[in-house]
Amino acid sequence: MYAGKSLAARPLNSLRGVGPRLAERLARLRLASVQDLLLHLPLRYEDRGTVVPIGSLRPDQHALIDAQVELAEVVRGRRPRLLVRVSDGTGQLTLLFFHFYASQLNQFKRGTRVRAFGEARPGMATLTMTHPDCQLGEPERDDAAEESGLVPVYPTTEGLNQTQLRRLVRAALALAEEPGALTDLLPPELQSELGFPPLLAALRQIHAPPPGALLSAIIDGSHPVVRRLAFEELLAHHLSLQRLRQQLQDQARAPELVTDGPLLDRFRVSLPFRLTAAQERVDAELARDLASPRAMQRLVQGDVGSGKTVVAALAALRAVESGWQTAVMAPTELLAEQHYRNFSHWLAPLGIEVGWLSGRMGVRQRESALAAVADGRAAVVVGTHALFQESVQFQRLGLVIVDEQHRFGVHQRLALREKGERDGMQPHQLIMTATPIPRTLAMTAYADLDVSVIDELPPGRTPVATVAVSSSRRQEVIERVRNACAEGRQAYWVCTLIEESELLEAQAAAATAERLTEVLPELRVGLVHGRLKNADKEAVMAAFARGEIDLLVATTVIEVGVDVPNASLMIIENAERLGLAQLHQLRGRVGRGAVASSCVLMYQPPLSAHGKLRLGIMRETNDGFEIAQRDLELRGPGEFLGTRQTGELRYRTADLVRDAHLLPQVQRTAQRLLREAPATVQPLIDRWVGSGERYAQV
Ligand code: ADP
Ligand code: MG
Repeated sequence: MYAGKSLAARPLNSLRGVGPRLAERLARLRLASVQDLLLHLPLRYEDRGTVVPIGSLRPDQHALIDAQVELAEVVRGRRPRLLVRVSDGTGQLTLLFFHFYASQLNQFKRGTRVRAFGEARPGMATLTMTHPDCQLGEPERDDAAEESGLVPVYPTTEGLNQTQLRRLVRAALALAEEPGALTDLLPPELQSELGFPPLLAALRQIHAPPPGALLSAIIDGSHPVVRRLAFEELLAHHLSLQRLRQQLQDQARAPELVTDGPLLDRFRVSLPFRLTAAQERVDAELARDLASPRAMQRLVQGDVGSGKTVVAALAALRAVESGWQTAVMAPTELLAEQHYRNFSHWLAPLGIEVGWLSGRMGVRQRESALAAVADGRAAVVVGTHALFQESVQFQRLGLVIVDEQHRFGVHQRLALREKGERDGMQPHQLIMTATPIPRTLAMTAYADLDVSVIDELPPGRTPVATVAVSSSRRQEVIERVRNACAEGRQAYWVCTLIEESELLEAQAAAATAERLTEVLPELRVGLVHGRLKNADKEAVMAAFARGEIDLLVATTVIEVGVDVPNASLMIIENAERLGLAQLHQLRGRVGRGAVASSCVLMYQPPLSAHGKLRLGIMRETNDGFEIAQRDLELRGPGEFLGTRQTGELRYRTADLVRDAHLLPQVQRTAQRLLREAPATVQPLIDRWVGSGERYAQV
């Protein structure tokens, strides 16, 4: 019934032996069609062609042994286990099972021949293999092992073993040989240009490697057969995002906002500084987008302190000037409050009402805020996610500004747009991020956005000098704080904990503040943490900003919070536990004035290799883009972008870090396919991204 049909259309339960239970397990691996199975690549290979004498086994070696059972017994205890002692004449080995059936004991009769594949670990008396793959009696035929002795090991899930997976992949490979079953979607000229093998040849090499295949290159992805698959997958994702973006742009009509006007002029004049050239350039890009009837989708990247807020305010003014409202959303209360202060400070003198909405407001306050939003009195509204709840109705929303968007995925962005949609009009969207996203990642993760970069800091900033210091030198660090404050500077002392507990973190910070107050009696010490009431937090921050507090002890809540130019020293405790992005954000709280600033990264020895690397990178550079790139390399794209986005970035064969060098070619090829072979675009997207169109579902 499936003869001559594409394997993409052929469900897995059409394979022999795949019933509903197995199909459900395969689905957990995101395998639905026979084609999916072919694109499920091995994690590694095992050499099962060579039998290793037990006497020459090294600890931690993966190996096949061929031996006879000497003794088998079930040892009772808290965790019953089955122990099987085997010998091949060169030595003895123990096979160990924690999960076993009572009947298994009888299978391991003395004298039975056993072929076992596993990892030999040092054990009590002999080397031990725990849960090895075993074959009892005379060896069975194993097609995969017979060809080369190399057996692929696949990513799997509970209830699905390697033998089953291998059998299924072999069946799929056999089907793929039939004409019409698996179409090669990359034009042959392109393949030869790029030095790629044909699809089927690549899959054969990967799933059933011939003797002498370069396995390490297949595993590390440098082999052309893997590069070809990764390339095709990246291409499919790119095309899918491009198409999504095209569709969104075609649909989305937005208000045409003015480019200039009296409010804008008055605002510019009121600023105590001149915009940097980078700010001017980005402002011009925004002005052009906002004046167009196509809804803007623009990401503004700029390092901490590069001055994104004022650029956002200019955009908001264009909306106000044209009679439309602006919503400004930040991910945390603290950051939202700071934006509220900034926008009020800038816009209130121009006679513009700035509204405030947060999750923590009282009922009365909230109602009056909602009313001002609904009747349009609040021309600019600042808040947290609370801005996009059901109950919030804007009178005429023309622009949405989202800060720190690396915490939002494509889906959230699209949902936001729909929220603002009315009468077929969508608000423009401006997204700001202080965590620079490496270009390679931005291209794929944010292919639905245009990107502007503020790549220049306001003049007069000096780079923050960073040192790493063991916590055993705490006393010296305290003296440093004493000296800086004696010179009239202010300092932060950031306490961090591993536990994700706001309470414990708050307690640790309180204890630290107490101790520092004792040893630094001449200083005014303040304390902020996430457990404080908003008003209290704000009062402490404000006192620090006014210079009434010398040393501010804080938890990581200040990560995106305050902007105090006189603060020139930052101490971060347990810095080794924080990621690069967070360290960079924290450090960005100093170095905002003209004074030379420094940052002390205190760590608990001994430092892990990774911890050492991270602190080293922080010492070497202040450049947010560079740090982001290194962060991406260390953590991988999923972690880097936050857990919410990992789903969107789970590739079958590609790896954004490893394959980043392919991306420029991917872009060029995408243009070329759209031009020269548009008919292949949909099948490519279906093959890799799935017909579910993950990106389009909101
Ligand atoms: P971020 O990009 O991190 O959000 P902010 O917008 O908070 O940065 O700006 C950081 C500080 O720099 C603020 O105090 C802001 O007023 C100031 N600033 C912004 N642009 C300029 C400029 N062109 N010249 C001098 N100071 C500026
Ligand atoms: Mg900011």
